[in-house]
Amino acid sequence: MVDKKQVLQEQQPERKPWLDTNLVMLAFAFFIFYYFGHQVLIDRPQKISYSEFKQQLSDGRIAQVRLQGRKVQGRYRGGADDGNSKKKMDFLTTLPDLEDVRLLEQLAEQSVDIQVRPDEASVWVQILVGFLPWLLILALFFYSGRMLRGKMMGAGGGGGMLNFGQSRARRFESSKGGPGFADVAGLEAAKQDLQEIIDYLKSPERFRKLGAKMPKGILMMGPPGTGKTLLAKATASEADVPFYSVSGSEFIEMYVGVGASRVRDMFAKARKDAPALIFIDEIDSVGRVRGTGMGGGNDEREQTLNQILAEMDGFEPDEAVVVLAATNRPDVLDPALLRPGRFDRKVVLELPQKKARKEIFMVHTRKTPLSEDVELDDVAASTVGFSGADIENLVNEAALRAARHNRDKILQEDFSSSRDKVLMGARRDDLLNESERGRTACHEAGHALTAYYSQHSDPLEKVSIVPRGQALGMTEQLPKEDRHNVDELYLKERLSILLGGRCAEVLAYGYVSSGAADDLKQATRLARKMVAQWGMSQRLGPVGYRIAEEHPFLGRELAETKDFSEHTAELLDNEVRVLLQKAERQTMDILKEHRVALDRLILELMKHEALDRKQLDVVLGEGGTLPD
Ligand code: ATP
Repeated sequence: MVDKKQVLQEQQPERKPWLDTNLVMLAFAFFIFYYFGHQVLIDRPQKISYSEFKQQLSDGRIAQVRLQGRKVQGRYRGGADDGNSKKKMDFLTTLPDLEDVRLLEQLAEQSVDIQVRPDEASVWVQILVGFLPWLLILALFFYSGRMLRGKMMGAGGGGGMLNFGQSRARRFESSKGGPGFADVAGLEAAKQDLQEIIDYLKSPERFRKLGAKMPKGILMMGPPGTGKTLLAKATASEADVPFYSVSGSEFIEMYVGVGASRVRDMFAKARKDAPALIFIDEIDSVGRVRGTGMGGGNDEREQTLNQILAEMDGFEPDEAVVVLAATNRPDVLDPALLRPGRFDRKVVLELPQKKARKEIFMVHTRKTPLSEDVELDDVAASTVGFSGADIENLVNEAALRAARHNRDKILQEDFSSSRDKVLMGARRDDLLNESERGRTACHEAGHALTAYYSQHSDPLEKVSIVPRGQALGMTEQLPKEDRHNVDELYLKERLSILLGGRCAEVLAYGYVSSGAADDLKQATRLARKMVAQWGMSQRLGPVGYRIAEEHPFLGRELAETKDFSEHTAELLDNEVRVLLQKAERQTMDILKEHRVALDRLILELMKHEALDRKQLDVVLGEGGTLPD
């Protein structure tokens, strides 16, 4: 969906001609066929019956016979070249199985010249029988050898078994047109950092004259899909230099030493092409801290990493080769990779903020016809936490939806429906029976009402009881602005909202269901962090304990050893419980106070399935009901 051709054209190596060998083989086969075929088909003697042969014999017309087993070949009398022993035989017949005792006598009587040959196959047949198997075996060896070699070398010299040591880096020619900086929305700081490299690659002389040393490596770090690869391609394209792209995992093979030799090969190729740019994606797969013994295949990985380090050290000052590497795990990288002289520049790519999200939407909707009602501002606001790749995917989903509905333009509704699909999964209408629907409406109404009456939380955006993916319903709040820091008041209200579903069920049904399991998990995790990490408990005070920590980019908990006593652990558990119980009481108070509004909201949800911000204002703010 960008103007320029997104994919840089890959250079195809030339294929070797094999036609000439095949032509020789064809000519040879033709010769053999012609020679034997001629012998067998054209120079064949005429076949006659045994009685005819006897008749000819008694008529005295036969001059010569050649006996070979049961086969009799012969010549007639009276030909011009009777004396010529090389003359072809005139006839051929076969002796009957019954013994003809008088045949020899008759032949002698007619003075026929008798030749007897041992009953063996002809010389040609012998040669054929003797040599053909060998020929076939040789041909088989020849061809299988060729095929194996072809496979080992890889078609076109790509990646085969014999050239494992060769780099698998793909070479792209930037002049063939690829994404430029105009195709990368947002990421202004990263683009600025890379601009310097572009200037250097464009005219290295200018920098060399002043004795300036360019950074040899730039490490781009950020969550998946934030445009690291895109930015690397755009940098090569802007600098108009060849671009070698390889993924860290492609260095690693079963055999120790292969990765290192691939690294050598790739750097050698790039040097030859200098000025050039090497892009190593997922560098963490080879660049992990050495000597930890984690991750398996250590020797191979370490050797590969050592080779990368050695190659980067070995750049001569006049070699304009810059290495760009990308990772979403900067925390696991070996410190040696990050020291000055290697990847000493770091470019951090974050998930896009609202403004950048809008720009990414604009880039990806350049060629997509949008209806007048589409407000990209609203779409960007509703996609908090989306990466560039998620946005691209959302635009595609919206276009698919519009096409399914036979429209020639994308509507705002396509975006919102596709967004729910991308976030939660596809709609699953058959999942809930009527009583479960009622319970889900009550649960979601509980969340929504608590959120609506919480002063410090994000505004309520949407409530729905449409089952999607694994969720039976959803309540969505959207922050007015992207948030980087949250305060205690906000977090306490967040706990209340998370418990809203469960509390509403208790209020309406008198007992709880299993539907709140995920809410409880989330609320407990949040409360634990508030107490143990963010110093939000009076009893524990301003201390930060090491509990299982989430990785900043992956959002996943990594196992860590405890650094507190059993007593503190008990205290911690108690404080978490107290915090959650307080939140539950607060929620119950809100729901009881607005019980009428809760019942109204449940009914409206049952009727309409999903309510947006405006509808929620009517039902909750004005105390009204919605038209059917
Ligand atoms: P990973 O870490 O998973 O390799 P990445 O950070 O390298 O991901 P890319 O492959 O560069 O992500 O991005 C995926 C797609 O997302 C790109 O093809 C591009 O279309 C889109 N995209 C990401 N960021 C941007 C952006 N800032 N502007 C425009 N498109 C973007």
